[in-house]
Amino acid sequence: MKLSFLLRTPIYKIIIILFLSSTTVFSQALDSINDNTHVESKVVKSDSLMKITKDTLLIKDSISIYPFEKWDNTRFNPYKNQLKEFPFQIKFSDSTYAAPISGKKVITSRYGWRRGRPHQGIDIDLVTGDHIMAMFDGVVRFARYSSGHGKTIVIRHFNGLETAYAHLSKYKVKANDTITKGQIIGVGGTTGNARGSHLHLVISYKGNYINPEYLFDFGKENKLRKQDIWITKHWTSAHFHTSKRQSNLVYYNSYEEALANHKKQSKRRVHIIRRGDTLSQISTKYHVSMMKLCKLNAISMNSILKIGKKLIIH
Ligand SMILES: [Zn+2]
Repeated sequence: MKLSFLLRTPIYKIIIILFLSSTTVFSQALDSINDNTHVESKVVKSDSLMKITKDTLLIKDSISIYPFEKWDNTRFNPYKNQLKEFPFQIKFSDSTYAAPISGKKVITSRYGWRRGRPHQGIDIDLVTGDHIMAMFDGVVRFARYSSGHGKTIVIRHFNGLETAYAHLSKYKVKANDTITKGQIIGVGGTTGNARGSHLHLVISYKGNYINPEYLFDFGKENKLRKQDIWITKHWTSAHFHTSKRQSNLVYYNSYEEALANHKKQSKRRVHIIRRGDTLSQISTKYHVSMMKLCKLNAISMNSILKIGKKLIIH
């Protein structure tokens, strides 16, 4: 602050400026995210070391890095240009997660192709009124109504992963709140496009949805499958999975191994259903058995083919 500026400024403004600059660094950082202004590089010492730079990076416990990039409180998925580089790695500092619901986690629909559309999360059964808990420490990025998802909370965690909790009946937190693992964040329900009460849980990294069961074991011990995990296209694309059964889980120990497997993973071919199409015609056209088409698409021989929906061919 220049002296000449201070001399020209009325005394009450100086008092306000001094008061504002003494408020906590953390709230300044969050404000800056809201209004997109820059924050001077500052360091504050508290229980855990927090450092906030003008690029709005928060370093917590000096190990985890929380990227504030695409910090958008109004869009469910603000990543326009999704990360296209595969494989990518996600690291966790814990070996367990906190269960998003209390009691047994019954998965009623899995990540994958469902009724000609991608189901990019898993459905966990609950009763309206049940509490919803945050799976890890993080900051609420989004807490609002999202079409289809209903009342939804998205939390960005310190390793960059996002967990989203949809079809809620109530919010218990708001955007930009800092959250601890296991904290109650909302109440389950049926808002949005939900057939009956359940939690639709979505896991994503920089806008790429990931099959939640690839990362987490939904048994009672709340274990992570791996703390250091390589993700290939196969685990982000719903085309490779069906909502009816768990996919065969395959893990890679190094970048090279993941890359080699990523390259081997063929691209899915889909057929858009047109008027008059039948399963047997499609089977003949693409030289794929009707049995295989049924298995890939989780349909039966006499399922109705809806015009405009996609059928996975191979
Ligand atoms: Zn769902």
